[in-house]
Amino acid sequence: QLSVREQLYEILALTAKFYEHALAQPQGHGALNYLLHDRQMRPEIIQQFQLGYAPGGWSTLHGYLVEQKNYPVKLVEQAGLIVPRKENSGYYDRFRDRLMIPIWDTQGRVIGFGGRALGDDKPKYLNSPETDLFDKGKTLYGLDRAKAAIAKQDCAVVVEGYFDVIALHAAGITNAVASLGTALSQYQVKMLLRYTEHKKIVFNFDADGAGVKAAERAIGEVASLAYQDAVKLHILNIPNGKDPDDFLKIHAAADYQKLLEVAPRWLEWQIQNVIGGRDLSKAGHLQEVTEAIAKLLGSITNPSTRTDYIKECAEMLSLGKSWRVRQLEEDL
Ligand code: ATP
Ligand code: MN
Ligand code: MN
Ligand code: MN
Repeated sequence: QLSVREQLYEILALTAKFYEHALAQPQGHGALNYLLHDRQMRPEIIQQFQLGYAPGGWSTLHGYLVEQKNYPVKLVEQAGLIVPRKENSGYYDRFRDRLMIPIWDTQGRVIGFGGRALGDDKPKYLNSPETDLFDKGKTLYGLDRAKAAIAKQDCAVVVEGYFDVIALHAAGITNAVASLGTALSQYQVKMLLRYTEHKKIVFNFDADGAGVKAAERAIGEVASLAYQDAVKLHILNIPNGKDPDDFLKIHAAADYQKLLEVAPRWLEWQIQNVIGGRDLSKAGHLQEVTEAIAKLLGSITNPSTRTDYIKECAEMLSLGKSWRVRQLEEDL
């Protein structure tokens, strides 16, 4: 007799196969076309990432798992796949007419799904709810496939979306993972750092407002680690608000690698953001920037690292005169 957890794993694995199968059926043609043409995905990548299609009906999956396979309806609900109707009159499938992306744990077991709308349906992404198996703050999409490359290259790349991970892996950049539409947690950062010897991570979030905010917040998680000084965190923003998937549609993998290589360290990225758009020749602006930078430097716990940065900042702001450096120090 299998435990509840084992049965949940089984149900989710079977569901991934069910969705995969549906993608190859006539009903899945629209979704398959979307992948092949709109997203320019190669068939072997579709297979490698076990992409699938959730049929349009209200109880297709319910019928398959509960009626055909005899799984208890409560377990299927617990797996996050069906939703009880109001007033106790049965269940409906959570995912309908969506492109399905299985989410794995670090051991490669399916623990949930991301479902992308094919048209203009809202929301664009519908994800599995948190379940006994699926904790969003403790999961990184693609980590099971990326962990060997992360260890080998001693570097992890964190992106925002499923398709960003898939596009990067398809381009041979296999050390990439994604957070799951939520802010990157400190737990997730620590998970990644376990695989890297020298603790190098690159955040490559979308260069839009949401992505910049996400980067700021994720930087905060790294900065509050006791061993923050040991972490080599770099931030990459692809110009023009593009995400890695967009970028790789029109550029080669080598171009992306170049961007990775020149991605600034987190503090430099933040300082550039602070300076960005301000005319430093105006006294008021310089004062503002100096104060903002002093605040940033205040989050550095290691005194010698902080001193290095103070010098660097003074140079970046062309504050050669030592009284400016002193002012930065005093503001701390
Ligand atoms: P696509 O390339 O398919 O248009 P994307 O991955 O670039 O999508 P973004 O809007 O940049 O989409 O969002 C990044 C990630 O945030 C998504 O991959 C998804 O995990 C998550 N996300 C986006 N919209 C939602 C939503 N409405 N609900 C939950 N998660 C979402
Ligand atoms: Mn975005
Ligand atoms: Mn995208
Ligand atoms: Mn995006």
